[in-house]
Amino acid sequence: MEKSFASQADLAEKTVSFDRLSDHAFAYTAEGDPNTGVVIGDDAVLVIDTQATPVMAQDVIRRIRAVTDKPIRYVVLSHYHAVRVLGASAYRPDHVIASRDTYELIAERGAADMKSEIERFPRLFRAVESIPGLTWPTLVFERALTLRLGSLEVRILQLGRGHTRGDTVVWLPEERILFSGDLVEFDATPYAGDCYFEEWPATLDALVALEPAKLVPGRGRALQSAEDVARGIAGTRAFVCELYAEVKRGVAAGRDLRSIYRRVSTELRPKYGHWVIFDHCLPFDVSRAYDEATQYRDPRIWTAERDRQMWESLEARD
Ligand SMILES: [Zn+2]
Repeated sequence: MEKSFASQADLAEKTVSFDRLSDHAFAYTAEGDPNTGVVIGDDAVLVIDTQATPVMAQDVIRRIRAVTDKPIRYVVLSHYHAVRVLGASAYRPDHVIASRDTYELIAERGAADMKSEIERFPRLFRAVESIPGLTWPTLVFERALTLRLGSLEVRILQLGRGHTRGDTVVWLPEERILFSGDLVEFDATPYAGDCYFEEWPATLDALVALEPAKLVPGRGRALQSAEDVARGIAGTRAFVCELYAEVKRGVAAGRDLRSIYRRVSTELRPKYGHWVIFDHCLPFDVSRAYDEATQYRDPRIWTAERDRQMWESLEARD
């Protein structure tokens, strides 16, 4: 049987965890589904990534309300992907914060990305009709923004390109807790369809330089020790570097995308095939790697139509 498109056949609900990392930091995770971070200051709550729909965000809000009644004033978007941002309206925040690059990507490709992502992974868009439209940042920063939530300092940082051009992390310097977005995954396959393979490793170096004691990845459980943080970053780095190196070898040898895809799939599956969404991500990741290794420095826009054409050309039987 041929693989069904992207994650359309993935219908199994995951178990949610709401883990405490410190008095101020919590992680909403779900066995490899997209995570949401929560920071509780003296006078306000900040949420990092929203879940895909307002209805799904209500479960995050319910768990926040079990630990605090402080107002949710801020939503930070780690990047522009629909599955991260389209639940924002549920929090009724004073501000939606994003990097200028993320803001520009929403303007340029947010609508196409929304359509594409909903078709790729319908389970992650429960009650899709509750989405009021694109999520527009109301506070746009460049490089770094410091928020003080009473006595708690929150650093919102754009440290380089990686998973997307606009990647943003949230850093609690006093507690050394990092919310990395999809720059780091744990036991989950990095989606690299909109990434910068050449620059992602250096951005991971910048995360390492912060010396995080704990880290909430974009997918996967909260990493509660320095050893687990190191494993999460190293695993993400290894996947990104090995995939890109294999694609570059294929390009240098003059092979076409389809044959390169098959080779990469064979090479990477033994080591990474057990990570969630491996089969979903790999065609998109190899397509982007091939683009970057040949003629496209910047990721091309994925549309629902381009998704299908790519899948058909890479996954169809001979
Ligand atoms: Zn993403």
